[in-house]
Amino acid sequence: MSQCSGTTADGKPCGVRCLVGQPWCFNHAPDDEVAAQRDEARREGGRARGIQLTRAAAVTDFEEPEWWPLKGTGEVRGAFAWTARGLARGTIDARTANAMAAALRGLLDAIKDNEADSRLRSLEAALGGRK
Ligand SMILES: [Zn+2]
Repeated sequence: MSQCSGTTADGKPCGVRCLVGQPWCFNHAPDDEVAAQRDEARREGGRARGIQLTRAAAVTDFEEPEWWPLKGTGEVRGAFAWTARGLARGTIDARTANAMAAALRGLLDAIKDNEADSRLRSLEAALGGRK
């Protein structure tokens, strides 16, 4: 298993493992068949990115769902369900779903902290009033 004899854009040796029976890696092989596969791989990469961007745009255009504007735990639960449904249907990509879940978890923690603070304040007020 030798290393590719090509060079990188900044002039350093490529160093990637060679294709079987060739002195080049997948990126440097000069023959037409490999070049065609390489072009196809690039096109596929571009297509996948295009789909990601289209889906991201679809999520930004969403009609305001019943759980918006996420004021309480019930609405956050609704948003979790909406995200899971979108992921299952393929209208939300995994990256967006992960980001949504992380944001929703943070929001849920903040809501719970706020509720705990309110309960504590009303307890303190009740105890203070009995002096
Ligand atoms: Zn190479």
